[in-house]
Amino acid sequence: MPSTIPFNSPYVGAEEAAAVAKAIAQPILHGDGPISRSVEVYMEQWLQVRHAFLTTSCTHALEMAMIALGIRAGDEVIMPSFTFVSTANAVVLRGGTPVFADIRPDTLTLDVVDVARRITSATKAIVVVHYAGVSADMDEILDLARKHDLYVVEDAAQAVDARYKNRYLGTLGDIGCFSFHDTKNITCGEGGAFLTQRDDVAQMAERIREKGTNRSAFLRGEIDKYSWVSQGSSYIQSDILAALLTTQFEKRDIIRTRRKEVWEAYYDALTPLADAGEIILPTIPPHSSSNYHIFFFRVPSPEQRSRVLDALRVEGIQATFHYVPLHSSPYGRKVLKYEGVLPNTTKCSDTLIRLPIYPQLAAESADVGQRVATILKRNILYPV
Ligand SMILES: *Cc1c(COP(=O)(O)O)cnc(C)c1O
Repeated sequence: MPSTIPFNSPYVGAEEAAAVAKAIAQPILHGDGPISRSVEVYMEQWLQVRHAFLTTSCTHALEMAMIALGIRAGDEVIMPSFTFVSTANAVVLRGGTPVFADIRPDTLTLDVVDVARRITSATKAIVVVHYAGVSADMDEILDLARKHDLYVVEDAAQAVDARYKNRYLGTLGDIGCFSFHDTKNITCGEGGAFLTQRDDVAQMAERIREKGTNRSAFLRGEIDKYSWVSQGSSYIQSDILAALLTTQFEKRDIIRTRRKEVWEAYYDALTPLADAGEIILPTIPPHSSSNYHIFFFRVPSPEQRSRVLDALRVEGIQATFHYVPLHSSPYGRKVLKYEGVLPNTTKCSDTLIRLPIYPQLAAESADVGQRVATILKRNILYPV
């Protein structure tokens, strides 16, 4: 009986345990202590970004972004429908309106032509999602945003350690948001980061994150007492979790390299099926250096997808799919009353399959790829 392959397995071990033990022996356990600050400085240098703030999650970094950009009732924010709910909730929580645009069928990132079509006088920002750790078409999106005076927010939850033309994702727009959830490449359990190259946005972010106060300036000795100066909440990550990130960042090359091995082993094993026109494999455009966050492929129909997922489950390979497009979710239909048609979004989300991918799988991945190929041959009966 071949081994059961779980869908995900966080790459944490003795080093992380030691880092946490050391952190809890320190006098400061709350956030913005010396460990958090050193992680933020590390990120600023590594990513070449002027300001990095650790946050409690990417969801919260996205919420901070919409507060910092002043999104409010009447404002429209263009984003893919093919994304995680947090991308849209951040806008909805401010009273703004998410406007969904379609995606490219090969990378599943925003289709810039469709984004352009959806710009109105109410549009304030575009949120790009770098799906699977592969960059959206950033030059085109940044050009479009500049032309219409729009902000660009990068939901780079899946794109930590991935690049576009040699610049790190999350540092290209006005604001970038990272996730360190345990399903992501680099993790501290639950966590995130807010990145910006803009000093004005950084100053707002610092206050929003610290309950709407200027306590951060106080801690730097710039003012002699701190007070309530803006809207805000509590988005600061504990130093204990930051200690976990210190260790994870030391492993980022090995994490990316091993995930790449898995990704390529799957790609090679499934290439004959793609060449025969029976499945569609993912694309990494030349402008993008992936972090290999997700391996996905597409089958011809939703019925085949169900059959393949069932067969993989029976064989002990925990594959999965996502997203229910936000425009066709209960909230999208009943509350946002979204009526647009997004053909690529619907087709891709109906036919997508994700395979397990994490560093510990590298040694076994060629074998798992062959098992998947065999299962696919038995369960896909006609070509695309
Ligand atoms: C994981 C994810 C998020 C949310 O990240 P959290 O850190 O869990 O809040 C947001 N957007 C996308 C695209 C994601 O994949």
